[in-house]
Amino acid sequence: MSVEEGMSTPENTSKMTPAPVEKSDAQWREELTPEEFHVLRQAGTERPYTGEYWDTHTEGVYQCRACGSELFTSSEKFDSHCGWPSFWAPLAEGTVRYLHDRTMGMDRVEVRCATCDSHLGHVFEGEGYGTPTDQRFCINSVSLRLVKADEA
Ligand SMILES: [Zn+2]
Repeated sequence: MSVEEGMSTPENTSKMTPAPVEKSDAQWREELTPEEFHVLRQAGTERPYTGEYWDTHTEGVYQCRACGSELFTSSEKFDSHCGWPSFWAPLAEGTVRYLHDRTMGMDRVEVRCATCDSHLGHVFEGEGYGTPTDQRFCINSVSLRLVKADEA
């Protein structure tokens, strides 16, 4: 996992990713609900246990709510009981990017969509959940849209 420094622009995204999606705040505000805009574009956090997917076990693929990129699948989702959807890995390397987040007096690693640079959540390591990677991608439901396997 390569972690980038600070709030950089999406220029350094991996060659594996699709063409970057770049829109102005005004465009995003038009396309997203106020809650989606707050979380995805202003790095907000939904309240725990309130989101749509924290307790979802349905099979399918989780897309970025802002741009539709496929980010996570139900195969890597696990029950962390933290109140947000948790995954032990992204769908593939290069679908998300990592940034150091030193806001709120904490040193965390922020996870963003590699395609549209929207905020998804944070990744934590070494918490002992016993998952294959020992990582927990703690993602806001409002940043995701589940496409169920039987609807795909
Ligand atoms: Zn996106």
